[in-house]
Order: sequence, then structure tokens, then C-alpha cells
Amino acid sequence: MSALLLHEYIERISHLLRTETRQAGADYDLQPIQLDALHFLNQANRYSNTPLGVTEYLGLTKGTVSQTLMALERKGLIQKSPDKKDGRIVHLNVTKVGRKLLRETLPSKTVLRVWSELAEAEQIQLTEGLQKTLKTMQRLNGMKPFGLCRTCRYNRKKSEGKFFCELTQENLSQADTELICREYQLSEEMGMGS
Ligand code: SF4
Repeated sequence: MSALLLHEYIERISHLLRTETRQAGADYDLQPIQLDALHFLNQANRYSNTPLGVTEYLGLTKGTVSQTLMALERKGLIQKSPDKKDGRIVHLNVTKVGRKLLRETLPSKTVLRVWSELAEAEQIQLTEGLQKTLKTMQRLNGMKPFGLCRTCRYNRKKSEGKFFCELTQENLSQADTELICREYQLSEEMGMGS
């Protein structure tokens, strides 16, 4: 095994997935980047489902993100809503049509097939290995990890189904804790993010 082999595997898997995403998106007149942004917004919490969140998560320019979001809104896949506390912030909510499109396109048919052919232990091992690779690459590239809220160091459980964010000082629901966040900080207990 070598670092070059790892690079080649990641590169080839990325190319194959990109081709599939392009084909899946084309059925709905969507470019891969538009599908990526829609997928992110469907997982993002209220601190992250903004144009800035999309920009940081996808590592794109503001201009590209702006065009992408306009296209999604024109197609009725997202809806804008102003923040209740700060009118300068706009939240981007995935519509019912957008969620249906995501259910029909992701995960890709090939990924589903690969997953079904792996034993449970292999699924866990592969997911953990890829997660570690992703977190390390994000750290080295200075990118935010966008981890899962329930594993964040600021997440405190108050009672059954009720949580509290110590960073934003706001209550969180059980559903909130299953979303990803741009303010996420790795919990030392967890060792890994999401
Ligand atoms: S607990 Fe962490 S991940 Fe959850 S909302 Fe607060 S900062 Fe974000």
C-alpha cells in the first residue's frame, strides 16, 4: 500500500461519482454543483443553511454559489426565509419537491449496490476510514469540518429529547442534533466528528 495508491483510489471514485451525479442531475435539468448544494442544504442546521454556509461547505466562490442558489430557487427546490432575529441573514429551506428529488437521486444506484454487497463489519470499517480521511484533509486544507451536531463539544443534553447549544445559547431539538453545522467543534470524547 502507498499514498499514491490511496490518491488514485480517491481520484477514481470521485470521477465515477461525479459522472453518476451528472447523469442523475441531468434527468432533472440540474448541474452536479446544484445537486451538491441542494444535498448540503437538506442536511444543514439553522446556523448553516445560508449562502455563506453553502460557500464554505462546497469551497466555491460567492458568485458561483449565488448563481447556483438562484437556479435552485427558480426550479422551486429551495425557498428563502429571513432570519427571525437578524434580517440580514437569509435561510435557504429545501422544499417538498426538493426533498423528493434528493430521495430519488441520492445515494447513487452504484453506491447503494456497493453498500449492499459489503458485510456490516466492512461497512463500518470503510465508513470510519473515509471519515478519518475526510477530517484530516479538511484540517490540512483549513476547511470547517461541518460535523454532526450531536457529536459537537457545545452540545449539552438537558433532558430526554432536549438539548442546548453552549455556543449559541439556544435550545436544540432531537431533530436539530441530526443536522450538520458550520460552527461544529469536535468533541474530545468522540474522537471523531460525525
Ligand atoms: S452544538 Fe455545535 S453543532 Fe450543534 S448547533 Fe451548537 S455549535 Fe452547532
